[in-house]
Amino acid sequence: MLSRSPCVASMVFAGVLLTAAVPAFVQAAPASPESRVCARALKLLGASTEVVVRVVDPELAADPEAIRRVDAFLVRERDGRLRQVIYLNRRSAPVERALAGRDIDIAILAAIIRHEIEHLRGAGEPGARLAERAFFQGLVFAGRVPPDEGLAYLADLTQVVHLREGR
Ligand SMILES: [Zn+2]
Repeated sequence: MLSRSPCVASMVFAGVLLTAAVPAFVQAAPASPESRVCARALKLLGASTEVVVRVVDPELAADPEAIRRVDAFLVRERDGRLRQVIYLNRRSAPVERALAGRDIDIAILAAIIRHEIEHLRGAGEPGARLAERAFFQGLVFAGRVPPDEGLAYLADLTQVVHLREGR
């Protein structure tokens, strides 16, 4: 079900909430490549963004299958509240690409995190997508990502939405 575009999985599954306990997730060590990439993405999101992001390896999770299908996810606590942590799938295409360090891929990762932040704030899928797109557009207009690659990604986002609406 994962498709060619790194954002597809994010958009389709980013609203997935895992209710199971999450005992086996490993938080990246402070100086790890994962934490450096997250730090770069969070910097794009702005200093005022306070959010905990953890990169998890699906192979170490209680339910690897559920996590392999997604780029990012949230966890609902037993009392029904959302845990204020955004989990990223270490093995997902956008995370793997971001780890290679290119600006465009860091920006895409930041947009995925932005999407999840909107869910943490209570938004549904349409609101989260709008926030993700608006954030990414802001990066393009501010010249913080290469314009050609940025516009291509935005076009891709639009296409994905159309595909989804056609289902
Ligand atoms: Zn979502």
